[in-house]
Amino acid sequence: MHARHRAVLPSWLSLYYAEPVELTHGEGRYVWDAEGRRYLDFFGGILTTMTAHALPEVTKAVAEQAGRILHTSTLYLDRHMVELAERIAALSGVPDARVFFTTSGTEANDAALLLATTYRRSNQILAMRNSYHGRSFSTVGITGNTAWSPTSLSPLQTLYVHGAVRSQGPYAHLSDAAFTAACVRDLEDMLGQAHGTVAALIAEPVQGVGGFTAPPDGLYAAFREVLNRHGILWISDEVQTGWGRTGDHFWGWQAHAENGPPDLLTFAKGIGNGMSVGGVVARAEVMDCLEANSISTFGGSPVTMAAGLANLTYLLEHDLQGNARRVGGLLIERLRAVAAGLPVVREVRGRGLMIGVELTSSDAAAAALERAREEGLLIGKGGRDGSVLRIAPPLTLTVAEAEEGAAALERALRRVWDASG
Ligand code: PLP
Repeated sequence: MHARHRAVLPSWLSLYYAEPVELTHGEGRYVWDAEGRRYLDFFGGILTTMTAHALPEVTKAVAEQAGRILHTSTLYLDRHMVELAERIAALSGVPDARVFFTTSGTEANDAALLLATTYRRSNQILAMRNSYHGRSFSTVGITGNTAWSPTSLSPLQTLYVHGAVRSQGPYAHLSDAAFTAACVRDLEDMLGQAHGTVAALIAEPVQGVGGFTAPPDGLYAAFREVLNRHGILWISDEVQTGWGRTGDHFWGWQAHAENGPPDLLTFAKGIGNGMSVGGVVARAEVMDCLEANSISTFGGSPVTMAAGLANLTYLLEHDLQGNARRVGGLLIERLRAVAAGLPVVREVRGRGLMIGVELTSSDAAAAALERAREEGLLIGKGGRDGSVLRIAPPLTLTVAEAEEGAAALERALRRVWDASG
């Protein structure tokens, strides 16, 4: 596919490569392009292929459901939807949980914002600097990463709190405890600037688009203590961090659990293994605060629910969270060893199979993406200025594939470094 094919698409649509890659099929952790080239998919689609490409269990569930009925709308019950909601409610940790399905992460966050602002009768939201929550009117309005939040007339009043980004100014060299205390002071300052009631704080436990940056464990627990005093809700955006991706925990919020679970939790991306499944979990009294009836025409659609259920079952039965911890741990170690000999790498960080490789510039990252592709490896990019390579393969990644990907990335980075000087 040629660059000219972009002409019909919006200028702001993010396409990674100078010559966009057209993918035709996938299997396991591999995908193939239209020219028959095989790539190791180190980005899992875009964290959407959670288990594996063409996983037989999911494909079968989709085909069987497609053969029965494609769509019913949430005016009617669907067995898979109810069962998936029950499973997610039980796993979420949210007490007395209710689940509402959407078709994307943006819509899930939109629904969470609607619930929180209605419940609290306030349009003021606390969000994190460098965050990403979606591309709708309201979610752009709470997205702190300026590369993704063009000037917006969002109806929400957003106050941005410091959290995951430590690599700047006075925060750079603080210990975890001192950083956490500084962020809590920042939160209290923000609350001092708020006019009246604040509805909620929304945060990604590990910032995804922001460059796979994580605050110290317990930061949101420390925030929670302040939020609880003000009756402010905590929305955990688990669109990237859910389902065991971070290895140590099933949800990102569990690294911050000391003062209780979030009031609302949003999910999407990996649960459908590529099918459009998103949703929000909320305590019953929050979920039920809406007085008007509401449906999502395609949210909870039977084919996507069948995929989600089969995918979640596979994930749990095969302990993919454990695999993310083990294989992710080895991969991080291996990439740190690569980085030690390559000054173009500033930092390798991560948890489980959510690994960020921060380079010295966004140009270096753009070049690394191209070179990695030539080496048969697909990776992602992000960070405040686009200088972070993002690695988030399907959670079934094997040790041999981790090694293959690390070696390909090492070759790509060496070429970038050699070309720089
Ligand atoms: N929240 C987070 C943390 C995300 O990373 C994303 C997408 O990257 C979204 C929300 C939006 O999800 P979607 O692209 O499915 O609308």
